[in-house]
Amino acid sequence: MEHLNETGNPPELHLFNRIPEGLADTAVRDLPSVLPGPSLIHVRGRREPPLFLSILLHGNETTGFLALQQLLRTLELKSRPSPRSFLLFVGNVRAAGKGLRRLYGEPDYNRIWNGGTLPEHELARKVLDHVALHRPFAAVDIHNNTGKNPHYACINDTAPSFVHLARRFSKTIVYFTEPHEVISMALSRLCPSATLECGLSGDRHGTSHVHDYLLHCLTMEIDEIFRPPSNRNKEIYHTIAKITVPENTILTFCGDGRPNSGVCLRRDIEELNFTFLQEGTVLGFSDRGGQPLRIVDNAGKEVTEKYLRVANGEIVTRTPIIPSMFTRDQTVIRQDCFGYIMEPWEIESGISR
Ligand SMILES: [Zn+2]
Repeated sequence: MEHLNETGNPPELHLFNRIPEGLADTAVRDLPSVLPGPSLIHVRGRREPPLFLSILLHGNETTGFLALQQLLRTLELKSRPSPRSFLLFVGNVRAAGKGLRRLYGEPDYNRIWNGGTLPEHELARKVLDHVALHRPFAAVDIHNNTGKNPHYACINDTAPSFVHLARRFSKTIVYFTEPHEVISMALSRLCPSATLECGLSGDRHGTSHVHDYLLHCLTMEIDEIFRPPSNRNKEIYHTIAKITVPENTILTFCGDGRPNSGVCLRRDIEELNFTFLQEGTVLGFSDRGGQPLRIVDNAGKEVTEKYLRVANGEIVTRTPIIPSMFTRDQTVIRQDCFGYIMEPWEIESGISR
């Protein structure tokens, strides 16, 4: 059966061998008038191998796109070559045109990279085939969060080159292996790869941070990232579990007082991201029996009881945790998750593989 999404057409991959006219100046909402759909753009520069770059896998996460536009202005590609070749994948163009993470009826574009039977899986396979053919030295995928988080970089492998690539963006690094259907995981089988999490979408500081990072990636000596780490790495966190809200649960965010009904999380819940929470920290209130939140570890096993308990209507941590991506955005909570639990990850200097 043909898969149809909101627009009625299965997505196709469009190939370009230069920056399409208008891309550098268009507003993200008007992107579908410049690109006909998901596009892979190959720009040849002075040096090889290329950098791989992906943006807008989530249509409402615009920082990568805005940073790219700024980069195109800096590079002045109309009058001179890029310092290094790059492959640019622009993901969910249609969702970007509507300011949405994804369209109704289509899969999340950052969960299609590990095989499957939908047209979007075929699209992902084609992109990966092209990437493999052109052997990039590194790959960078750019995202935003909705909750309050520092800028940080994620890696799916702790080899030194991955850590270097991530460290150039932020001292805070998150190592994760689930969800495993993300593009960075597929890319990490081809080259060092990092996901940049650049705070809130469109924030000007995030845009210039990513611009500077990409410019550095295109101009640096690439063996920079293949050196062994010079000292012990700090602030690497490992994602160990994901928190979701059960579908039938009505979730709100409250002040100091207890709610009358349902599950109510602390109003300042986003402030807890990347902080160390002691055992016994109150996350919110619940008037119902059972667990108001659901926590699943990387193996897919339910581990809610290990981390949370409900006592006298309070939702309390049962063990020390470091949360990330806690968000108050109900759409993200429903379409993805409420947040993650991390633990510190030690990488000793001098490891290599
Ligand atoms: Zn994203």
